[in-house]
Order: sequence, then C-alpha cells, then structure tokens
Amino acid sequence: MEQTYIEIVNARENNLKNVSLQIPKGKLTVFAGVSGSGKSSIVFDTVAQEAGRQLNETYSSFVRTFLPKYRRPEADAIHNLSTAIVVDQKRFGGNARSTLGTATDINSLLRLLFSRFATPSIGYGNAYSFNDPSGMCLQCEGIGKIITLNIDTTLNKEKSLNDGAILLPGFGVGTWQWKAYAESGFFDNDKKIQDYTEQELHQLMYAEPQKVTVTYQNSEINATYEGIAVKFMRQNVKTDKDTTKAAASKLEQFTTMCSCPTCDGKRYNEQVLSSKILGHSIYDMTAMQLDELMAVLQKIEEPLAKELVVGITERLQSLCDIGLGYMTLTREMPTLSGGESQRVKMVKYLSSNLTGLIYIFDEPSTGLHPHDVYRLNDLLIKLRDKGNTVLVVEHDPDVIQIADHVIDVGPAAGSHGGQIMFSGSYEELLKADTLTAQYLKSEATIKANPRPATEFLESDKSTLHNLKNVSLRVPTGVLTAVTGVAGSGKSTLVHEVFAKKYPEAIRIDQSAVHANSRSNPLTYTGVMNSIRKAFSDANGVDAGLFSYNSTGGCESCGGTGTVELNLSFMDKAEVVCTQCNGTRYKQEVLQYTYKDKNIVDVMDMTVAEAVEFFEAKDIKRKLTSLNTVGLSYLTLGQPLNTLSGGECQRLKLAKEMSTKGNLYILDEPTTGLHMSDVATILNIMNTLVDKGNTVIVIEHNLDVIRHSDWIIDMGPEGGIGGGEILYEGPPANIINCERSITAKHLTAIS
Ligand code: ADP
Ligand code: ADP
Ligand code: ZN
Ligand code: ZN
Repeated sequence: MEQTYIEIVNARENNLKNVSLQIPKGKLTVFAGVSGSGKSSIVFDTVAQEAGRQLNETYSSFVRTFLPKYRRPEADAIHNLSTAIVVDQKRFGGNARSTLGTATDINSLLRLLFSRFATPSIGYGNAYSFNDPSGMCLQCEGIGKIITLNIDTTLNKEKSLNDGAILLPGFGVGTWQWKAYAESGFFDNDKKIQDYTEQELHQLMYAEPQKVTVTYQNSEINATYEGIAVKFMRQNVKTDKDTTKAAASKLEQFTTMCSCPTCDGKRYNEQVLSSKILGHSIYDMTAMQLDELMAVLQKIEEPLAKELVVGITERLQSLCDIGLGYMTLTREMPTLSGGESQRVKMVKYLSSNLTGLIYIFDEPSTGLHPHDVYRLNDLLIKLRDKGNTVLVVEHDPDVIQIADHVIDVGPAAGSHGGQIMFSGSYEELLKADTLTAQYLKSEATIKANPRPATEFLESDKSTLHNLKNVSLRVPTGVLTAVTGVAGSGKSTLVHEVFAKKYPEAIRIDQSAVHANSRSNPLTYTGVMNSIRKAFSDANGVDAGLFSYNSTGGCESCGGTGTVELNLSFMDKAEVVCTQCNGTRYKQEVLQYTYKDKNIVDVMDMTVAEAVEFFEAKDIKRKLTSLNTVGLSYLTLGQPLNTLSGGECQRLKLAKEMSTKGNLYILDEPTTGLHMSDVATILNIMNTLVDKGNTVIVIEHNLDVIRHSDWIIDMGPEGGIGGGEILYEGPPANIINCERSITAKHLTAIS
C-alpha cells in the first residue's frame, strides 16, 4: 500500500508548539506565514533534517564519516519520509573555472559536437576544454584573466622619481631597486610622472629586458633594465601557485585583474578558437545568450549531429523556460545571484529521472519579476508531475495560488508563532480567517500623493554588461523603486554604476552578516557593550566577566556552549557543554545580577522584553530599532548564523538606521517577508525618507512598487534585450508606458 502522507507528530524544533501535521505525498504544498512563524523549522529543521538522517542511517558508520551530519529533530515521530533534496539559495562557491556551461554540463556536449563536426577539427573533446592543457590559452591557463600591476596604485603621478613616485614596497628612494630606474639614464629624475611622455611612461613600466650601463660606486657596470611591471610580473606572478597566492595577497593593492591579452579573455588557445561550426568557435557559442545559441544550433544541418543538438537544445530550453535565457554559458558561477543559483539548481534536478523524492524550495520567487513567476510555477508543477513531493516556502500570492495544499503557520513570529493556523486547499484557505487569507483577499492600492521629485543624483552613463549607455537618475529625499524583469540590468546599474559614484551610500542586501556562532543581535548592534557596563556598574566588577568571548566564558567549551565529541568508530557529534549547560558562561558570573536577572537570563529575553527591561537610553534606542524592523521575537543570545537571509537584511537595516547616512540602497528587502510584513518594511523606508534621506530600493514586490514615490523601470527584457530605462516617474503614470512589463502587472490588479 502506498503511503499518501508524510506524518509529523509533536514537532518542537525552535518555536514549534508540538506541531502535528500531515503533508500529502506526490503533491505541491506551499508553506505560508509571517517571517519567523516557523515555516523553516518545519520544512528544513524537521522534514529535511530527519530525511537526511534516515538516509545516512542506511550507510555504515565508516561511510557516514564522509557524509553531512544530521541530528534527530525534536519531534515524537516522523513517518513516511523519502529522500529529500533541498534546493536553496546558497550561491555557488567554486572558482573562476566554473561557469554556467561547465556547471550544467552543456559545455561537455558542445565539446563533443565540436570534436566531431567542426572544421578544422583538432581532435578529441578535451581539446575544446579551457580546463585542459590541450585546449587552454597558455598565458592565462584558461582563466581568461591575468594579474597585472595597477599603474594607478603603483605610481604617485604627482611625484618625481627623486620624490619617491614608485610606491611599490622595496622601491624606496635610495634602495638598489630604485637605483635601477633612477640611475638608468632613461629619466629626468626631477620630472613628475604626470609630465612624462607616453614613451617615457612605457619605458618606466613596460620596457622589455635590455642591457644598460649604470654607474655604481664610481665605476661603470653592466646591468639589465626592465620596466617595473615586467619585473613585477616576472618576480611575483610566474612562480608556483602558493607563492603567487601569498605575494598576491600582500601586493593586492598594487595589482589588478585584466583580460588576458593573448586570448582576449576567451580562455582557449588559438587552435581551438580557429576551429568552427557555421562560422562560430566554441567560445563564440558559449558567449552568446542562451536564447541566441538555441537559434544558431537549429541551423546545423548535418544529420549525424541531430541527436547531440537535440540534447543540448533541451538543456538550453529548460534554462530559458525558467527565465535565464539572458545568461551566457561563459558566466562564472560565483557571480550568480541567490535567485539565479536556485533556478540553475532547479533545472539540474528537472533533468534527472529520479521520482518519489521530496524537493524542498526556499522562496524560489526571489529575484523574479511577477512576469516570470508563471515560468517558475510551470517547473514546480513539472517536478510534481514526475511523481515527486514538492514543498515550497513562499510568500508570493501567485505561487501560493497553484498549490495543491497550503499550510499556514502562525499566528505571529517567534514565541508567538509555531502553530498550524490552516491546512487545506487554496480555495478553502480563502474562506479561512488567517493573516495570509486576509492579505490574499485584500485589494491593491496605489500611492495617492507621492513625494515630489525636485533635485536629482545622477550616475555617469554606462554600457557595463547589458546597459545601453544609460545613467541612473534618482530624485533626492524620496523613495525610488528600481524595477524590471530578472537580468534587465537593475543590479548592474544600481550597484556597479551608481554606487561606484556614490560610495558613501549605505547598502543593505541579503548577504549573510559576517557572523559566526559567537555573534548575536547584541554584539552585532553594539548593545552588548552597554549591557556589560550595566552589569559591571551594578556589581562593581570587571565588564569583561559578562562576555562569553572574554573572561566570562566557560572554560570547558571556551564560550561556545557546545563541545565536539570525537569517539573512535563513531560519528563526530556536537553536544551541549555539561559544564555551563550551553549557557556559555562560567558559573561564578551567574551570581551577579542586574534588576534581579543574571546575564544568562538576559540572553534568554526576547528583544521586545529587553526594551522594557533596560533603562539606559542607548540600549533602549538600539533595541527599539530591532523592534521596528520586525525582529522583536529574536532572543538576545540567538547566534546570528541561525538567522535567515531576510532576517539578516532587516538586522542590517536596524543597525544602519541608527547610523547617520543620507543615501540608502536596499536590495529586495521583502525577501522572506509575508505580505503582512511588507507594510513594516514600507514604514521603515518611509521613516528614513521622512528624516531627509534618499532611499533606493530594487524590488519585485508589487505593493512596494505601488507605494514608492518614483519608479525607474528597466527592460524591456533580460540580457541583450534589456539595459534600457523604459520609465521614470511617479507610480500612477507608468500605466501609460506601453513597453513596460512592470506596468502590465501593476495595472492588472489596481
Ligand atoms: P520562518 O521560516 O517562518 O521565517 P523559522 O522557522 O526560521 O521561521 O523561525 C522560527 C523561530 O525560530 C524564529 O523565532 C527564529 O528566530 C527561531 N530560530 C530559527 N532557527 C533557530 C536556531 N537555530 N536557534 C534558535 N532559534 C531559531
Ligand atoms: P537584474 O539585477 O535586473 O536582474 P543584472 O544587472 O544582474 O540584472 O544583469 C544584467 C545583465 O548583465 C544580464 O545579462 C546578466 O547576465 C549580466 N551580468 C550581470 N552580472 C554580470 C557579471 N558579473 N558578469 C557578466 N555579466 C553579468
Ligand atoms: Zn589567455
Ligand atoms: Zn561550557
């Protein structure tokens, strides 16, 4: 008999209040609910954790040492699991050798195609790989980039050689390396570098080794002269890898990456580049947008190539289907955004033929314009129809709508959440009385009186990536939303062009806060110092005692609260430190109290409780800013590495709100937020503007777009078909912009 439900009995992970639940197998289930309500605690910390653990149990303990570690989740029982695959937004690590083409294996199919059908053919498939010596450009070893000396940081152009114009270490005035230039006879040693002719500058930096005669201690001696950059490259770059790395980090400020002059950044050697199909080299094909490449492949008429072409096209098609048609196969994996990374992973799984799996997604709509959400929906449905169980944590109404089953977690966040408010079909949800249902039914409004735009900040015009010689022109003192489909150029224009000109802008994105298990909301916002002082003043002892990272830390676990057990023949395990019971503090510290609470009691308080508890103004103010961004439910001691991306972003927001900036750039701040939390974020941004700041937000959330003062819409499409500014102005008028896809979605509802 097939089991039709995953059954969870009394789950208690994090904030879950004995949650018992049935999740239909072979269906698409969406988990909704406010941020911090417990969705991830159910899906990732309970279901995925137990599925991983059960799978690991099937291996010998020897094999298990190599597998990721899973612990048994806090729950009475979990039945009917199958293998779970978590498709998350972690970006791809990896290096410059890993591109979209290598990661999706499309490059290896292209190599096969070239080895058989290109002219002139140059042999086996490996010859067409930039990661293989037979195919790579030998100067850059297949990286396409080389390190060179950065002339701008190497020379102080306002100085002469005698004044110490050469800033490289070891080239100080009077040193023998300096003499090699100053006494070469090529230069006027009192002439400022900025007055050098082009020839002189070339002689100083790039001259190839040549014999010269120099005067040394009154005698003439023969020496070799070479430009500073040439010498630098010889000494620091063309040595073995480890020394290069060490030298590179020490001399980093003096170097810069530039496109390899031999292959022109193409990574391949000349032979590979001259071997072509229909006039295109393998590089040419990988440098095309995926949608263009598909069109080119269709033109290959050779019957024997058909099968390969079909295989390649299928893979390209699924990348295009998920809205990635604007990318190229040359794109380096570490440069993909979180949302793009997740979509690439998704395509990889779709092409697998395994069935009966549980796929778990974390807000797959992140980074997707409403226009592209339907494509995501198609993929989720395809995965389900292959016979899998698909679990999705998602806030987007358009995704919730296609669910076979919705589980609404709530009612609020943290200790006020952790319960199942609703479990059933979408139609039934609309009749239920939950926060999610309420928002799904509410009507959209557009901002009635946008703040007027009077003065502007303007970036330089740019053609970076896909930009069509455009500048970003942002009105000051208002809230501006930058919109457009994925790949249209928003990040490029805002982060790489505008923010380069205005580096003083405070940028708040979703990248993890630099956090480890030793940092918490208090250490991050700087409140911890004030709290330690409060304890130290009240007790007349050293403030360091109240830090677990300092003298107050438990000696047994070093203030981490856990110790690693390493028993031979058994798995390594992290267990709670028995000395401090996981509190991280030394026993003796606990005798000191402030208003009858010891430091561990304080660490257990929620932000909301602590705001009431402390009297010092600076503590109250900083904690209140955590409240304002909707993080009142966090406990003060919660390690920052347990926070979600959305929580991290709001934490940064809370910290930066109290620093005085006047230009803020936010990148999809609604990620991880329930529809009801979006109002909170809008309030925060409006408060910042009311204080006289200029706020720029990159957003797909229609409510944020409707309620901004000014919209800058990019497009019309992603990649080459984008990079233009289609509309700039207040929200109400965008509906007249016919080319804007964003406009269609704004008008569809209001
Ligand atoms: P959601 O996915 O609905 O946003 P989570 O399941 O991530 O919510 O979080 C539920 C609650 O549990 C929140 O208060 C969160 O801060 C807390 N929490 C999550 N992970 C941990 C952890 N590792 N340790 C302590 N608290 C946690
Ligand atoms: P958006 O922010 O609107 O999603 P992006 O600015 O990220 O768009 O991308 C615009 C275009 O620039 C796309 O074609 C994308 O593939 C390309 N692009 C973005 N980042 C890079 C990069 N680091 N290297 C090469 N191309 C890039
Ligand atoms: Zn090269
Ligand atoms: Zn301890």
